[in-house]
Amino acid sequence: QDDLFKKVVSHAKEYGYVFQSSEIYDGLSAVYDYAQNGAELKKNIREYWWKAMVQLNDNIVGIDAAIFMHPTTWKASGHVDAFSDPLIDNKDSKKRYRADVLVEDYTAKIEAKIEKEVKKAAKRFGDAFDKKEFLATNQRVKDYQEKVDTTLQRLGRSLGKEDLADVKKLIEELEIACPMSGSRNWTDVKQFNLMFGTKLGASAESAMDLYLRPETAQGIFVNFLNVQKTGRMKIPFGIAQTGKAFRNEIVARQFIFRMREFEQMEMQFFIKPGTQQEWYEKWKESRLRWHLSLGLGEDNYRFHDHEKLAHYADAAADIEFRFPFGFKELEGIHSRTDFDLGAHEKFSGKKLQYYDHEDKESYVPYVIETSIGLDRMFLAIFSNALQEEELENGSTRTVLKLPAVLAPTKAAVFPLVKKDGLPDLAKEIIDDLKWDFNVLYDEKDAVGRRYRRQDANGTPFCITVDHQSLEDKTVTIRHRDSMEQQRVAISEVKAIIHKEVDM
Ligand code: ATP
Repeated sequence: QDDLFKKVVSHAKEYGYVFQSSEIYDGLSAVYDYAQNGAELKKNIREYWWKAMVQLNDNIVGIDAAIFMHPTTWKASGHVDAFSDPLIDNKDSKKRYRADVLVEDYTAKIEAKIEKEVKKAAKRFGDAFDKKEFLATNQRVKDYQEKVDTTLQRLGRSLGKEDLADVKKLIEELEIACPMSGSRNWTDVKQFNLMFGTKLGASAESAMDLYLRPETAQGIFVNFLNVQKTGRMKIPFGIAQTGKAFRNEIVARQFIFRMREFEQMEMQFFIKPGTQQEWYEKWKESRLRWHLSLGLGEDNYRFHDHEKLAHYADAAADIEFRFPFGFKELEGIHSRTDFDLGAHEKFSGKKLQYYDHEDKESYVPYVIETSIGLDRMFLAIFSNALQEEELENGSTRTVLKLPAVLAPTKAAVFPLVKKDGLPDLAKEIIDDLKWDFNVLYDEKDAVGRRYRRQDANGTPFCITVDHQSLEDKTVTIRHRDSMEQQRVAISEVKAIIHKEVDM
């Protein structure tokens, strides 16, 4: 698994998808740049989302709100007081940890110990080994398992109550049970706010403290009434937006899974109070369907319903995806009640109510939110696509099986040889296709090598121009996944590609 993840990271760099930010200065932790192919893939994912949410729903519109917002926004939303992670420092190593993640790491380590015991026993007992029975009867394994179970229970409880002293105690106990940091000298657990601050204004006296938005949602809430009135929207309706968000994450690792600057794709759906249960279920189902439409495999998704709820929610679930490092949150669906609009009414003194012409009453709408990280979606798609295949002739090929609708380059066009007018015909084909798709030209190396390069690049089609093409105006078109080749008329190529890549 670790290996696969390393391959994902290095492939993303080697093929121009993702670079470490400011690499020549040794990078900036948890900040990444999208390279020539990555920027295209990211744009296509964003468009695929926008199309499904905005274009295909006549009651959802899209906006693009500013990153900077009036600072009171973040008082009202609860972020100034409650948007924080629990931190703990190790006094000996001077290392800082996110307390909940540290506890999870201990649990993972204990689980790895269980796995090791199982492997050892399997080897010892050979064919007679029964894993279930072993797990149920081996005392040491049972002790480990109990530790894992009670730890997770306690962590959920403690953080829910924000009883940080208990988390410290838990970490101390775990360090004894399963030494990992090599030291037992911990500070108290403190809450650390994740928002980045900055200043607006030139002079020191008049400068205003601002935050970089930690989520895009608030830009939608403060615009709710403007959009509703100017768009003459009737409840139920939604407002969607994509854009950058910033969080000073303490544990920033796992590549683009957890970044300090990232992009969200969020939709707030405004509904009549009392209908939230129904809409929450509808959006859960609808969002899962969107994911499945990309064909990454049904088994790679699961719901995780939250028991521990954020300060704004009355129900919440994650759509989790099987990343190379296990199932993790990809998207959140939250029933936010009237928490946000109500708070903005209170803090701004402006009414944020909707007048329902049918029911002849005014109310603050309830909200169902769908919130997905674009970068996380990128990682899900990219890591799922990267495959190594054993071919019939015994060789292996690296292929990036990106969904064709999302692939950065849709087709590569090759002249079989660099002479006899084949490059000219290839370029003519490109000139025709490039109005519809991203296409590229490649004449370097043998055709087999060129196919491999495009396989690794994720390009769904390769079109080869040979001598026959000059005579009968046909080319071969090769499909990335099946490696099948077809001879087709040049005039048909565009339609063949459209059929596969159109959203
Ligand atoms: P996590 O528990 O992983 O920190 P979260 O519950 O704080 O995530 P939300 O606030 O619900 O996440 O944000 C919605 C979505 O935004 C997440 O499902 C995720 O896809 C994405 N996201 C959140 N934080 C980050 C980050 N630091 N880097 C990349 N994507 C992120």
